[in-house]
This record gives sequence, C-alpha cells and structure tokens, in this order.
Amino acid sequence: MRVLGSLVALALAGLAAAVVDPSHPAPTQFPRNVMSPRGSLLSLAPPDGAEFLVDQLFDVRIELHNVNSTVVPDITGYKLVINGDSPLNQFGLRADYALPKPENWTFAWTPDVAAVYAKKPVNVSVAAVAWRSVSLKVPGTYSVQLNVGNESISAVWTVRSFEGKKAKNAVLFIGDGMALSATTAARFISKQTKFGKFGKNFLSFAKMGTIGLVSPNGLDAIITDSANSASAYNTGHKSAVNALGVYPDTSANSLDDPKVETIAEYIRRKNPGRCIGVVTTAEIQDATPAAVWSHTRRRNDKAIITDQALFGVKNFSAAVKPDVLLGGGGEFFCNGTNLTCASNKNQNYYDIYKQAGYSVVNSKAELEAYSGSGPLLGIFSLNHMETWIERNMPAYFDGFNATKSDPFGHSYASQPQPNLDLMVKKAIEVMDARCGAKGWFLMAEAAAIDKMMHPIDFDRALADLLELERAVDVVLDYNAKNNGDTFIMLTSDHPQAYDVFGTVDTQFFNGQPLNLTGDDPLSVRKRRAIGEYQQSGWPDLVINDTTGLPTHWNGRFKLADGKVDAFAHTEDWQINQVDPKVNPSSRPYALVNTSYEVKGDSVASYNPKNDPEGIPFLPNDFPTDVNTVHSLSDVALFCGGPTEMLLKCSKPMDNTEIFFLLADALGLGSGAVVSKRDIDERYVATALEPELQYDVPVRRNAVQGHHPGEN
Ligand SMILES: [Zn+2]
Repeated sequence: MRVLGSLVALALAGLAAAVVDPSHPAPTQFPRNVMSPRGSLLSLAPPDGAEFLVDQLFDVRIELHNVNSTVVPDITGYKLVINGDSPLNQFGLRADYALPKPENWTFAWTPDVAAVYAKKPVNVSVAAVAWRSVSLKVPGTYSVQLNVGNESISAVWTVRSFEGKKAKNAVLFIGDGMALSATTAARFISKQTKFGKFGKNFLSFAKMGTIGLVSPNGLDAIITDSANSASAYNTGHKSAVNALGVYPDTSANSLDDPKVETIAEYIRRKNPGRCIGVVTTAEIQDATPAAVWSHTRRRNDKAIITDQALFGVKNFSAAVKPDVLLGGGGEFFCNGTNLTCASNKNQNYYDIYKQAGYSVVNSKAELEAYSGSGPLLGIFSLNHMETWIERNMPAYFDGFNATKSDPFGHSYASQPQPNLDLMVKKAIEVMDARCGAKGWFLMAEAAAIDKMMHPIDFDRALADLLELERAVDVVLDYNAKNNGDTFIMLTSDHPQAYDVFGTVDTQFFNGQPLNLTGDDPLSVRKRRAIGEYQQSGWPDLVINDTTGLPTHWNGRFKLADGKVDAFAHTEDWQINQVDPKVNPSSRPYALVNTSYEVKGDSVASYNPKNDPEGIPFLPNDFPTDVNTVHSLSDVALFCGGPTEMLLKCSKPMDNTEIFFLLADALGLGSGAVVSKRDIDERYVATALEPELQYDVPVRRNAVQGHHPGEN
C-alpha cells in the first residue's frame, strides 16, 4: 500500500506540474521563456510580484508560444484587464492611443542539455504585443488578468510611493564580485589587531551604520551576472543574465525587450535639477555603470550603450545624460581607420559629447586640473582601466605603460590613470558645483574586484577592494563636513566563491622543489607551507601606517585562499606574474587546450606563466571555462548617513529593494499621487517603436551558453 500510495502521489505531482503555476519558475536549466509562468504558453512582463515606484515608466510585453510548430499563434483576441478596468484607463492613456499591433517571430529552443548535445532544438512560433512606455500613477495594489484563448495569467503588481526626502544626496557603491569573505580577507591584510581583537579596526564602510543582506539572483537563474543584478538595483525589477533595464523577451532584437525606467531616468524626468554621476574603474559601458541608463537584452551592445547615455531611448523616458561620467571604454568613443575603435556607426563620440556641452578629460592629470562645473566626461583607457596595482606600483608592474591602452585607439601607452577615490572626489565637486542645494545621485563601482577574482588573481582583487574603502572614506569625510545628509549604500552585485582557509609560509613554499613526476606528485612538501587552525598565523600586512596605502604584496606569510569553482591552475599564493601587455580583464589564467576535443568542446589547461613553481589544482568548474564564475551567497549591504534610512537597510532583502531604498532616501515619487485619469500627453496616436533609433544589432543566440569575459 505504501508503494502504491507513493506512486499515486508521484502521478499527482506529474499532473500538478502540467497545471499553470502563476508565480514559480519551472525547475529547468533551459527555460523556453523565463517570463512564462510554469506550464504556460503565455507570458506577461512585468510578471506577478512586480513592484513599481509611483509613475515609473515600463513596457508591457505579452507573448504567446506554439512549441514545435511553425503555426503562428493567434494573439489578436487577447484581453488585458487591470483592476477590472481597461489598461487605457489604468495607464492614463489617451483614447486615441494606437493599440499595439501583433508581432511575430520564431526561435530555436533547446529544452535541456541532452538536446544541446544531440543538436536537436525545437522551433517555437511566437505572437506578441508590446505596450510601450506606460505607468501607474496611483500607489496601491493592482490585480492583473490576461487571457488569450485557453491560456490565462493572473498577476499582482504593487505601486509604491515614499513620503518626503530623507537625504540630500545618495551614493551607491558597488564592489563588483565582492563576497563578504573578500571584505574579511581585505581586513586581515590591512588592519592591525590587539592580540586578535580588531576593536575599531574594521573596514571603514563596515562600521558606518547598519548592515543588511541582499539576494543577488535574477528571475531566470540562481547565479547572476553584473548586468541583471545592477539592473535590479537601478530599476527595482528582476531581470536575466546579460540584460540591462529590461525584462527579457524571446525575440532576436536585443533592443525591443520590455523596458523598465531606471532611477536615474526617473530623476531626470521628474527632478531635473538634480545631478547624476557615474564612476567606474571598468569601461563606462560595462554592465554595472551601463545599468544606470541602458536598455538592452545584450550587455555587449556597448556602442549603443555609449549613445544611450547621452540620448536615451527615444519615446521611452528622459535621457540620463550623466553630469559626470568617469571610467574606461574609449574604444566606443574614438573613431577612425587603423585605430582600435568600435564606436556606433564609426562616429567620434568624444566630439558628440563635446557638442552636447561636455568637457572631456583623458588622464589623471587632466582630471585633477579640471575645476569647471561640467558636465564632465573622463575616459582614461581604451578598455577597462588598469587594476590598482598596475596604476600605483609601476616598480613591480609597469602595466599601463606597456598595455598601449590610450583612450583614442592609437595603441600608445595611456597617460597615468586616476584612482577610484580621486574620481569620486572630483565627481562630487562637479555635481555640487552644478546642482548645489538640489542634490545628486552617484553610482561608483570598484570593478576589478570581480575582474581579478575571475582569473583567481586574489592580490589584485583585494588591492582594488582596499581602494574601494578609500573611495568610501571620501564620502564619509564629505558627510562629516556637510550635515551627514548623504545616504551611502555599499554592496556587491554578486559574490565570487572566494574564501581563506589558512596562511602560507611562502619562504618555505619557495624552498621546496616541485617534483610532480618524481617522488612528490601531490606536492606534499610544498603543501606543508600551508598552516591550518593553530598554524594559520597572522599574515604580513600590506598597508603602510603613514600613507594608508599598500606598499608591497609579497610578504612572507600570505593568505591561503581559493575558489570552489577554480579551473585547472597552479597556485603559489604570491602575486601573479601576469603579462603586463594585456589589459587585466583579458588575462586568462587557464589556457585552452584544443587537443582535448570532447563533443566540440576544447578543454582549458594550466597556464604555467603565472605560477611556474605553484602547486597544480585540477579543475572544479566547467572544463572549457578559462575564467572562474560567480556564486550564490547573499551579499552584504552597508549603509551610512541619515538615521531615518539606516534601520531600513538592516534586513534580508531582494536586490530589487536597493532601488526602493534609494527612492525612499531621495524622496522620489513624493507628492506624485495624481488621478489615474490624468491623461498622458506624451502619447500620439502612433505605435511607439523606440528600437528604430539604432540599426538592429547582431542576432543573439537563442541558447544562452557560457560567455567568458562578459560577466
Ligand atoms: Zn564577473
């Protein structure tokens, strides 16, 4: 009977799986449509559970699928009802608003990894409609009902508003790829203890106020990339890997996906006197900075992202046009023949930004000398900026003199590049000069924590983490002199599975021979240098007490650290002897060995250049990966500034909540409650087609695979 009971239960579970489950994603690695409720051929974006800031603009995308069929499904009779009312009324649209016309496309869907290996994709025919740039103007709860034929979806949307302004300014610091374990490791190599007690010697941002926990996952998968996590921070809506400022749809066009307004666009549209600043040590087109203003399904639309910063997306919201924009990424600004440039339509975006009123600086010296009231564009390298060690320790690594990364694409050495703390300081000076009492919003990213964790170059990652601490100190000093009215948030977009399990005596390590083919194939002699538990004694500190800056990276006692997903590599726990001619983000630790062909995959193998005498480690990750990946843990949120905001940070939260904390602090949406029948005059009686602003970019693959270098 027990067995029979279980069988019945199993059969019922099978039946239950076929029933539409409105809110929960299907357990699968290859979803046909991440916006579809489980078991449904229909999808609605924004989905059940979406939250909006009052009057935040968004697109509605409805898709209906026919699977394994070339027959276009009939979506013409779809019925969308919001709070028992028509969308026209609820969105406050004019009666002559042109209702969206159905669109059709097909895509190839591989349902699981078996289908990938069998090369047997399934054809999906799609009919879809999109309501462009609508909003809900009254706070509260909205029940949404969508019906097409036999398919239906119920959803609840919530519109939030906030009373009053709690902070004049707000800063969102992002330590990209920064796990809590990495901040702990950075403390252990930079701060003294008194017989083990750190006392007041915690990292400055860790003790500035309160601490919360942020879940970084997207709506599509448990592991996130920087794009969809930063997108959640900037829009309050979950998204998918590689997507910025949009919910993902299934069409090939990366610019037609349903958009959600970013906090910077919202400020521009509704509080135009305030300033917006974006500072990063990556390319300014990289996912984290781009999430402030961009709308694309494909984070690699970098030429278009450069254009969107200035011109926005036509017919959607106000262009962000940052008052200050500092980082790398000259490749998408410069143009010309025989140059390493890739700008949109080969136009000179330095000139285009100048014509729009920007002053342009291209070196640390030019940035230091700048004293105007902007707007200011600072582009300091062709691609990502160099890491802190390359920027500041040329005695060890003359990185950016050798890299030939000048921001104009001439393959000259770039001029010395500014540090993150200088960029933050100048951004605040410019924004104060421009916007004065009205205040500003700044996003500042320490990008190379992530970019150096990927190739397991922990010394460079931790050096950039300590640089982030000094950048936060700039704002803490500013706050101390300015009534403490700047709300400071510091978090990460996702962790990397990094941790420390002891310390290494590198002197003993280096003294032992590597004899892998002889009597010591497991490197037992070298491994004796790793001290665990009571032998995990204190590491050498890297910080000079007088300057507060790191002075060296090769002390005798180093952290014994690693990553759970490490590729095949060698490790000696001493600073990696990288090829300084290659930009940090492009230094693969592992090499691809094409001699190990397995079903078309080439297997990554050891790169002996970094640690020739290091201990070999077998790969723990996908064998073709030459970079390690992101991981699952929650990330910490550190908050400082106005007391009223601090307790609101002190909780576990979805990454979407960062957007609402910023909106709350800045009083966005306050007093914005209007009648829902306040007709939106932005609309004319033509369909809105914002994607026509650009040439349709290269088709993306329907099957999302591994994208080294994109994350
Ligand atoms: Zn990454």
